Amino acid sequence: MTEQDAVIEHESGTEAAMRKFGSFVGGAAVDPEPDAEVITLENPATRRPYGVVHAASPQLVDRAVRSARTAQAEWWAMGPAERTRRMTAWADLVDRSADILADLDVESVGRVRREAVGDVVKSTDQIRFWAQEGPRLVRRSERSAVPEHLFLTCPGPVGVAALLLPGNVPSRMLLVHSAVALGCGNAVVVKPADASPSSALKLAELALAAGLPAGLINVVVGGAATGAALAAHEQVGGLSFTGSTATGRRVAAIVAERFGKVALELGGKSPQIVFSDADIDAVCEAIVWSFCANAGQICTAGTRALVHREVYDDVVARLAALAGRVRVGDPGDDATQVGPLSSGRQFDKVVGLVARAKREARLVFGGQPVADLPGYYFQPTIFADVPAAAEIFQEEVFGPVLCVTPFDDEEQAIALANDSRYALASNVWTADLRRALRVADRIEAGTVWCGTSRIGDPHMPLTAGRKSGNSHARGLVDVFTQDKLVAVSLRDTDTGPHWGLAAERTN
Ligand code: NAD
Repeated sequence: MTEQDAVIEHESGTEAAMRKFGSFVGGAAVDPEPDAEVITLENPATRRPYGVVHAASPQLVDRAVRSARTAQAEWWAMGPAERTRRMTAWADLVDRSADILADLDVESVGRVRREAVGDVVKSTDQIRFWAQEGPRLVRRSERSAVPEHLFLTCPGPVGVAALLLPGNVPSRMLLVHSAVALGCGNAVVVKPADASPSSALKLAELALAAGLPAGLINVVVGGAATGAALAAHEQVGGLSFTGSTATGRRVAAIVAERFGKVALELGGKSPQIVFSDADIDAVCEAIVWSFCANAGQICTAGTRALVHREVYDDVVARLAALAGRVRVGDPGDDATQVGPLSSGRQFDKVVGLVARAKREARLVFGGQPVADLPGYYFQPTIFADVPAAAEIFQEEVFGPVLCVTPFDDEEQAIALANDSRYALASNVWTADLRRALRVADRIEAGTVWCGTSRIGDPHMPLTAGRKSGNSHARGLVDVFTQDKLVAVSLRDTDTGPHWGLAAERTN
């Protein structure tokens, strides 16, 4: 189907077949507002339009935040045991609905179905974890050293947590961020990415069915204007933004205007340092997986391979050979490893960056859209001899594109790894443990994986620096909780600091 065909199909006969996606507020679907902005949804594997989003206005965003406030009071009053029980019921229901959720993410952003199912199941472990851990964090109390006083530190929920989400892994992002927010006793208002409202709406329905109060999870659908209205809302207690660095900057400025709390989980350009003593076969396999999985649309994708010159030519040749074996195709097919890019916008960005990179580096594999597939497919692409000043070395592509650059010694490897405006994740590949730890200590990134890749644990901090933001997973706790101090005198009479004015009057 050509682009024009798609427009004709959208405008004429199949209008009725186009599914309509509106917001979900206070436990119910909302009818489209009269002047709502309309966004057309397109399946990235076929480029066929399949639905329209009726974007939430600032008034509807306000309704969602108020509804969340009301539900939060009910949620908090239930007490921790009941909250834990209901969150666990939600996790169970989501587990049982993993196939449905995965199908929605396949349709909206082209996720490989098999991986999307696995991600949903993995994410429900986070709900179960935070259902237990959250209540523990909001009932801490400490004894102070001030005599005749009891000081209670009472951290509590911020009330309404807002989640502004990206489109790369829709179900997973909502589950992981809601887990922390709900576990700490908040209600949430979610703004999914423009292109992926369907799984967010389904997850909110499942929450209601599992016994979470109506209004505890609200979904406002739409694009930048809806997101900006949510970020600006005075009654949002904490906001987590996950997305590009450029948008993160705008959102942070909006939140700063009202002195709000914000967690920023932004872009990355993660290095993979390969020393000559590493198990080269295994490392090449890991690198190809890291830069190609989810068509390269993972914030922590290891997209800069820095390789010791002794093994450089060998590694480049092996990477190219492995990239040629990656199965790119229909995301619904179980044999597929890489599906399409999530949208036309993302596809155009990758095409542009790769075209410019061809002038700055040596293309050793790929470099083109996939010719015989109709959707937004791009070949796994490898550039070698990439100078650190090249745009492709510095910019996040968010597509299946790898840069390979040689180094001569450890010092140069560390310098190249740190030559980035991002500081999200990194990988060190060597058989020498002492060297792995020495390098890990000097890499400027929130996470360093040594001999492994993209392993996380909700107990552990995963963090970020520079233009990659200020937060990741566990860091959300600071944004979704608020400390409070209650200071109580243990004396028989109420005698706080005073000037003795009452005594003066009686004399
Ligand atoms: P994006 O920045 O285009 O959009 C993210 C969200 O912000 C969407 O919901 C969008 O509608 C909303 N938005 C856009 N403009 C806005 C505005 N002016 N005000 C308020 N909201 C606005 O990001 P994307 O393309 O969907 O996602 C890709 C990016 O996300 C990549 O850079 C990737 O690295 C990053 N990401 C980071 C992490 C992490 O944990 N660090 C995880 C996943 C994705």
